[in-house]
Amino acid sequence: MLQRCAACHRFQWGPEWICHRCHSFDVQWESVEPVGTLYSWTRIWHPTHPVLQARGPYLAAIVELPHADNVRVVGNLLGDAHQVPQIGAPVRGVFEQHATDPPYALLQWTAS
Ligand SMILES: [Zn+2]
Repeated sequence: MLQRCAACHRFQWGPEWICHRCHSFDVQWESVEPVGTLYSWTRIWHPTHPVLQARGPYLAAIVELPHADNVRVVGNLLGDAHQVPQIGAPVRGVFEQHATDPPYALLQWTAS
């Protein structure tokens, strides 16, 4: 889900109390299809969080969503950690569910 302004109808990310563009306080949540294009990426060799130290190296990506006002979101890029991803490549989001308290979902991306 992304925020969408009820006044100017534009999407935005990250979440805010007001619209970045028109400053309306009427921002709502709307489901969007998790597809986009690879805007940028980096390879993480030395994860700082203890949970991730056994999973490195891995790829972190910024993905642009053309159908949602080109909002950009961050996530991991799945697959071979030594691949050389192509900027502009189509990707699809997948959600890794964690049944912790509270539960959360981690957004990740894969080539589509
Ligand atoms: Zn607005």
